[in-house]
Amino acid sequence: MIVMKFGGTSVGSAERITATADIVASCDEPVVVVLSAMSGVTNMLIEAARGERPLSEVAQRHYEAARQLGLGTEYHAVVDSTLGRATGEAETVACGELLSTALARAYMQTRGMDAVMLPALDFMRLNADGTPDTAHIARAAAAAIERAGRHRIYVTQGFICRDADGSVATLTRGGSDYTATLLGEALRASHVCIWTDVDGVYSADPRHVAAARCIPRMSYAQADMAARLGAKILHSDCIVPAQRCGAEVRVLDSFHPEAAGTVVGPFADAPGFIAVAASANHVGIVGHDAAVTAADIARALGPLAAAEPEIHAGHTRVSVQPGQAVEAMRIIHHEFIENKI
Ligand code: ADP
Ligand code: ASP
Ligand code: MG
Repeated sequence: MIVMKFGGTSVGSAERITATADIVASCDEPVVVVLSAMSGVTNMLIEAARGERPLSEVAQRHYEAARQLGLGTEYHAVVDSTLGRATGEAETVACGELLSTALARAYMQTRGMDAVMLPALDFMRLNADGTPDTAHIARAAAAAIERAGRHRIYVTQGFICRDADGSVATLTRGGSDYTATLLGEALRASHVCIWTDVDGVYSADPRHVAAARCIPRMSYAQADMAARLGAKILHSDCIVPAQRCGAEVRVLDSFHPEAAGTVVGPFADAPGFIAVAASANHVGIVGHDAAVTAADIARALGPLAAAEPEIHAGHTRVSVQPGQAVEAMRIIHHEFIENKI
């Protein structure tokens, strides 16, 4: 069994859902497909739940994609009843993943793919402290597969879950990556593929740093650190379950499925600084470079640094002036990473 997670842009339009189905169809093992909401939909739902936006926009977005995928109006009834049942913020936000999975699964079936739905709310559950209840998830996910019977493709929702009382809840934003690795652990998957819109984990966010390079292999510890320091490509907690069970995490590009991507696994840490990430008013550097001191980093950042950089074993944290994290990330990448990769 393998797990494949597709993020919002990979299911963001009829065209992207078609490409996602092509990737799933080309897999020759049984696969659990974890889907995010269509890109932008979770934000729309949060606003709708606060009364700032009509829910009908969400419905229209899905009707339109369904029409382009050649689905009949039966899917409209699914959209209407799903949105109609949404009371309260969490239930409303959960509709994004409920609708994207219903859409993708219906489309896969029209292509003759053996795809069944595995409702995440039947097995994804949190403990009272908000952490995933991994023992429950393992039992309940196996039971859900047993009930569904033998199929090639099990489609499920990322991000959504139940809290300890059984009410609908969600993981933190970007949580579908975490659903995928938690399920990988629960089902003892050999690997978890995180299909996204960039061909791997880069030395910095390639949207902001043109010179950033893809990192072909990463140790669990360094990928975990990149995620925790704010590299948005991976949810902050998602490496932990994969490391616990020894499943590889492959970060792959659904726009270029042939690209090698990044493999995260039981490898040794790479030497030197390997990546830099920006989050709010902080910049985090993954790796360790004995030749670079806190004073060197502070000097390179000049007035952008808000405090002395904190060098730890394996990572460095730098507080920067409000709004300056991306610029500081560019400088650090240029000064301390770019010339060494
Ligand atoms: P998805 O919807 O597939 O989960 P996200 O938007 O959450 O996708 O994550 C992918 C984005 O993460 C990329 O488009 C990229 O801009 C951003 N990103 C941030 N840091 C990195 C990094 N170090 N390597 C690659 N992408 C990164
Ligand atoms: N749809 C959720 C979000 O936008 C979860 C995810 O995309 O991973 O945060
Ligand atoms: Mg994401």
